[in-house]
Amino acid sequence: MMQNDLVSLLEQFPILLYSSTALIGLVVGSFLNVLILRLPRIMEQQWREECSELLATASTAPAATPPAETKERDKPLLGLARPGSHCWACGAAIKPWDNIPVLSWLLLRGRCRACTRPIPLRYPLVELLTALVSVAVVWQLGPTFAALAALILTWGLIALAVIDLDTQLLPDSLTLPLLWLGLLLSLGGTFTEPTAAIPGAAAGYLLLWLVFHAFRIATGKQGMGHGDFKLLALFGAWLGWQALAQIILLSSLAGAIVGIGLIASGRQQAGQPIPYGPFLAIAGWISLLWGNAITQSYLQWAGLA
Ligand SMILES: [Zn+2]
Repeated sequence: MMQNDLVSLLEQFPILLYSSTALIGLVVGSFLNVLILRLPRIMEQQWREECSELLATASTAPAATPPAETKERDKPLLGLARPGSHCWACGAAIKPWDNIPVLSWLLLRGRCRACTRPIPLRYPLVELLTALVSVAVVWQLGPTFAALAALILTWGLIALAVIDLDTQLLPDSLTLPLLWLGLLLSLGGTFTEPTAAIPGAAAGYLLLWLVFHAFRIATGKQGMGHGDFKLLALFGAWLGWQALAQIILLSSLAGAIVGIGLIASGRQQAGQPIPYGPFLAIAGWISLLWGNAITQSYLQWAGLA
């Protein structure tokens, strides 16, 4: 079996495993940058189209279409693959050799080759982060099927967290497929069993839904978005209902620390909303890799095990 040969080779030479994972992480991170930038715009484009279709059906005058609308419709639609990568400032196409993750940014000293305006530091940072967390996944899980599944979730979570920071949105087109994937994986018992995954997904959604409405009734404000419910449902599906308490605890703790830090440093005013998605994503990811270890050490600390 070739597959077994590959696994035993990677087990024998962990450096091979980590370096190839880091390389794959850099390339995936480069793709995540595109996804993070374009997915919210593609969604907005779709909303506009749906709205204009709805308005067109609702209107009784069929003939008079304003020219501005035609123009908007004739504009080429933005996709994930097209148009190709280009400079945000001058629109110059980026050559493949200027598009190598991290390396190109360093060689170009963070500036566009055509117009010399700065390329955001965030691009190489997302690439580096993706490489680092990918290595953490295989370091923890080894060259296994579980690691492969965990990598897919990890990459999805990076995209979700950054998109949430940018736009306060957690796109269904990312959360829902990952949720289904978690349920399917439970059939093979990869991280948990279906008897824990199915109630986990439902309870994850329901828990934050309840918090959302309790908060709304108590304060008249909306404390989080519906995407947050789906994100916790996703973790319930992947890790089972048993993991939910830990994820909520970890994410609230991280959120409180960062929130207090931001308010204390004057970068954030009290009462101003902070997206919850990134904290949920980090907490869920920690639970994915170290959840059992955290529970064990907590039980030992409490004298229960
Ligand atoms: Zn440029």
